[in-house]
Amino acid sequence: MKKTLMMSVSTMMLYAALGHPVAMAEPLKVVSSFSILGDLVHQVGGDKVQSISIIGPESDAHSFEPRPSDAKTLQSADLLIINGAHFEAWLPKLSQAAGYKGKVVEAIQGVPLRAYEDEHEHEHDPSHTQTHAHTEGHAHHHDHDHSHDHGDYDPHAWQSLEHAQMYVSTIRDALSETDPDNTVYYQKRAADYIQAMQALNVRLLAEFEKIPASQRSVVTSHDAFNYLGQAYGVEFLSLLGASNQAEPSAKELAGLIEYMRDNRVQAVFMENISSPKLIEQIARETGAKVGKHLYSDALAKAPHPADTYLGMMQWNAEALLEVLRPD
Ligand SMILES: [Zn+2]
Repeated sequence: MKKTLMMSVSTMMLYAALGHPVAMAEPLKVVSSFSILGDLVHQVGGDKVQSISIIGPESDAHSFEPRPSDAKTLQSADLLIINGAHFEAWLPKLSQAAGYKGKVVEAIQGVPLRAYEDEHEHEHDPSHTQTHAHTEGHAHHHDHDHSHDHGDYDPHAWQSLEHAQMYVSTIRDALSETDPDNTVYYQKRAADYIQAMQALNVRLLAEFEKIPASQRSVVTSHDAFNYLGQAYGVEFLSLLGASNQAEPSAKELAGLIEYMRDNRVQAVFMENISSPKLIEQIARETGAKVGKHLYSDALAKAPHPADTYLGMMQWNAEALLEVLRPD
């Protein structure tokens, strides 16, 4: 009897310390910065967590400006999950507006990040055009708008199924720390989810393996797929650099088109968050195929095969395979 009473007192004290009501009927309210993280949280948290994304499906995280309603959302959060690596440049402003003093967890922690390349190191590199366009994009940013600057490392690490497994582990630990009573539940769901990620990764590795290495070049609008490219040996050339903001100059565009012709780049892809105009122009001028929309920084609006993280990864891979496969 005595022991039971002590346990319940210590549990109550723990809840009090964490700022939760003693009755835990309500799910944990976890706010994520964007839709992809929101789904990872939902997959791990199940029905113990209410997962809310500040930047919803089909919305561009790069040009996001927080609204007053986002401050309200954040005020009631038990936990905030962000990507990190300077992906959420808008966050300090929002945290301040909301007066949010709660826990902030960077899902990207522990992931080996890819540094943005320095143009001068790659003067003889065939991907010079891409690097050049990217560097210009950044320079433009530094000049005009600091709030969308990405920093020195590529933050789009969720585009690798291997890296995403580290995201899931970090989310599992953050949920368990905030809500220790459901640790076993979170661990089980995270383990199952990681297994599903591994299975999809193995399947996709085998599919990309069938495509000759020389035929694995494509063009996308913004520089978001390099972790996917690393995973499956696909070269992604991009039009807009990492920020999805600055447009390439006429000279850069001409350089990219020339590179595509010289290297027989087969396909161009639009993204759900980018304007299709330039991509359409490039396809016209090079005769490259236009693939299905790729999902970079936002999920599709449900119902759609890409309305979950795993669905998105499968969708993107199939869209690439469809145009890269030799006829
Ligand atoms: Zn991006």
